[in-house]
Amino acid sequence: MPGKELPLIAFDNSYSRLPEHFFRPAKPAAAAQPQLIRYNQALADQLGIALDIGDTARLAQIFSGQVLPVGAEPIAMAYSGHQFGHFNPQLGDGRALLLGEVIDQEGRRRDIQLKGAGPTAFSRNGDGLAALGPVLREYIVSEAMAALGIPTTRALAAVLTGEPVIRETVLPGAVFTRVAASHIRVGTFQYFAARGDTDGVKTLADHVIERHYPEVTGAENPYAALLSAISVRQAELIARWLSVGFIHGVMNTDNVAISGETIDFGPCAFLDEYDPKKVFSSIDQRGRYAYANQPGIGQWNIARLAECLLPLLDEDEEKAVEVANGVLSQFGDVFQAAWLAAFRAKLGLVGEKDEDRMLVSDFLDLMQRGEADFTLTFRALCKLAGGADDAVLEAQFADPAGLADWLVRWRERLQGGRSAAEIQAQMETVNPALIPRNHRIEEAIQAAIYNDFSFFHRLSDALRKPFAEDPDVADLCQPPRPEQRVTRTFCGT
Ligand code: AMP
Ligand code: MG
Repeated sequence: MPGKELPLIAFDNSYSRLPEHFFRPAKPAAAAQPQLIRYNQALADQLGIALDIGDTARLAQIFSGQVLPVGAEPIAMAYSGHQFGHFNPQLGDGRALLLGEVIDQEGRRRDIQLKGAGPTAFSRNGDGLAALGPVLREYIVSEAMAALGIPTTRALAAVLTGEPVIRETVLPGAVFTRVAASHIRVGTFQYFAARGDTDGVKTLADHVIERHYPEVTGAENPYAALLSAISVRQAELIARWLSVGFIHGVMNTDNVAISGETIDFGPCAFLDEYDPKKVFSSIDQRGRYAYANQPGIGQWNIARLAECLLPLLDEDEEKAVEVANGVLSQFGDVFQAAWLAAFRAKLGLVGEKDEDRMLVSDFLDLMQRGEADFTLTFRALCKLAGGADDAVLEAQFADPAGLADWLVRWRERLQGGRSAAEIQAQMETVNPALIPRNHRIEEAIQAAIYNDFSFFHRLSDALRKPFAEDPDVADLCQPPRPEQRVTRTFCGT
C-alpha cells in the first residue's frame, strides 16, 4: 500500500476540481523493487521540486507511485480519439495517472504524470504497465526534442519497478514520469462531444482558455479564437518536426496535445536519409502518418476538434460550420509560412524572396534522389557556408548530380553583408549535429534490458547539446551502418 510523506512537491490540482465525470480516481500499483534509472534534476529545479537527488531510493519510491507526496491526487483522465481514422469513444488514461499539477518557476502550470504505474478505470484489456524499452525511448526522445527547442512534454524520471511486464517476451517493467503543460488532448474534447455533453465541452474549453490561451478571452468570439490559436500552434509544431526530420508515428487525435506540445512518443523516429514517404511504425501500414503527411493529418485532427466546438462557435449550426471552416482554411497557410521560415533558416537565408520556396524544395529533392542523410547534409551545408570545400557536402550524396547547379543558386541567394563565419555560426544554431538516431536508441534499450544503463546515460547526456560539435560524441552523430538500421518501430503498449 502506498504511504504518505511530507510535501516537497507543491501540488495545486486544477483538473481534479473539474466535474467528476472528467476523470476517475486512480491508485498506483505496488512495485516489488523500485530502482531509479534517471532523474532530471534541471527539470525538477524548474518545477520547484525540492527532492534530494542523492536519495535515489526515495526518488524511486515516489516516481514509481509507492510513496504519494502530500497533495498528490492521482486521477486517470477521460478521453476518446480517432485512431488511424476510426473513432473510439472510450480511451482515457489506461496506463497513466496524473499525480497532480505544480506551478513552475516561471509561473506556468505543469502536469506531473506517472506512465506505467498500473491499471486504471480506463485500462480496458491492458495491464496499465510499461516495459523498460518504451520508457527509455520516451525519456531520450522527449528530452532531445526539448534540447532542439521544439515544444514537447518532458521527462522527469524513469524508474525500474522490479516487476515483470509481459509482452511478446517478459520484459523489465518501468515507470516514466512525464511533465506536460497539460495532458488535455483533442480526444478529451471528443469524449464529451461524442456523449452530447455540450456543458462538458464548454467547461473544458473554458479550462483550456484559462490555462493555455488566456489571450483569447477578450476576442469577439473566444471559442473561435481558441480554435484558431490551437490550430496555429499545431501547424507551427508540425513545421518544427519536419525541420528536424521527426516522424511522430501515431498522430491519432488522442495523441494531439491542446497545448501544442509534442506528446506520446510511441513509434516515433527521426529520418536518417531524407525520404518524405518514410514510415517507421509497424502498425502504420498505409503510411497515414508518413513524414510528409504530417501537416495534412494535423489539419484533419484540428477539423475533429472543430466539430467538437461547433455548439460553442455559434447558436446557428450553419454559421458555426462557416466559422470552423474559416479557421481550418488557415491551417495550410500557417503551416507553409512556418515551414518556409524554418527551412530558410536551415539554409542560412535572411529576408524573404519569392524563389526561396523553390530553393528549399529543390534541395530536398536532390537529397531524396541522392539518399542523403537529412541531419548530416544540413550540417555539411553549414560548413560550406563557412568556406569548406563542396566535397564535404557531396560526400553525403550517393549521387550528387545537380548539386553543383543548386549550390550556385544558393550562394547567390546567401550574399549580403555577413561574414562566412557568421553565416555558418547562425546556421549551426538551427541545424543540429546530433539527433536521437533510431539505432542508438535501440542500442541503449537493448543494453538496459541486460541491466547496463551506461549507454542510455551517455546518449541522454550527449543529446542535451544537439547543436554542439563535440568530438567525444562523433560516433553518436553517424547514421547507421546497413546492419544497424532500424526499419520498424513499435507502440509502447
Ligand atoms: P497510446 O498508444 O499510448 O496512444 O495509447 C492508446 C490508448 O491505449 C490509451 O487510452 C492508453 O491509455 C491505452 N493503453 C496503451 N497501453 C496500455 C496498457 N499497457 N494498459 C492499458 N491501457 C493502455
Ligand atoms: Mg496516447
